[in-house]
Amino acid sequence: MNSLKSVILASQLNGISAEILTQIHPSNQRPTMNETQVKYLTQFILLIVSRLIWVMPLVMGIIFLKSKFVINYKDSLKKLRTHHSALSKGPVKRYIESLYKTRLNQSNQITGSCTQCGNCCLNQQCFFLEPIEDGKFQCGVYNSLFRKFSNCGAFPISNEDIQRYECPGYVLQAYPMIKIKSLKQREIS
Ligand code: SF4
Ligand code: SF4
Repeated sequence: MNSLKSVILASQLNGISAEILTQIHPSNQRPTMNETQVKYLTQFILLIVSRLIWVMPLVMGIIFLKSKFVINYKDSLKKLRTHHSALSKGPVKRYIESLYKTRLNQSNQITGSCTQCGNCCLNQQCFFLEPIEDGKFQCGVYNSLFRKFSNCGAFPISNEDIQRYECPGYVLQAYPMIKIKSLKQREIS
C-alpha cells in the first residue's frame, strides 16, 4: 500500500525536487530570486491555474491515468477549487523558495516518522489525498513522477514546515551546543 510515510520519508532522504534542479542548474550557476520575484512568480502561477481550472479534471485525468477525475467532473472541480485555495495560502511560494534555495533547509536536523495524518497534504484538502482505515490518509498519486517535482518531494525541510501543519510525526532536533570555556572555567576544571 502506498503511504504518505513512504512518500515523505523518501522525499526527506532524497530531496528530489532540489536534486532535479541541481542537475538542471549546478548550484554555482543556479539563478537566484529575491522576495519580490518569488511573490510575483507565485501570483502568476496561481493566476494561470485559476484561469485554467475548468480544464484541470481532464488534464489531471490524463496525467495520472485516472478516469474518475473526468467522470466525476463536478466533484473534481469543487475539490480542485479547494485545492487551489489551499495552495494560495503558502505552498506555491514555499515550492519556489525550496527550488531556489531561498528557504532555510534544516532536513539534516529532522527526525521522526510519518503517522499518515494528512495534515501536510494542504490540511487534508489535497485533490489527490485518499482516506484509508483508522482515520489515516494515503497519497493517490504516489507513483507519479509529477508528484516528485512537487512540494511533496521535500517535506518537512524546516521547523516552519513542521509547525505550519502541526505535524505530529517529525521533530526538529537542535544541534548540540559546544560552549567555549573561559580561561577561569578551564583553570577550575
Ligand atoms: S503532517 Fe507529518 S505525520 Fe502528518 S502526514 Fe504529514 S509528515 Fe506525516
Ligand atoms: S500529492 Fe497531495 S496527497 Fe500526495 S503527498 Fe502530495 S500533498 Fe499529499
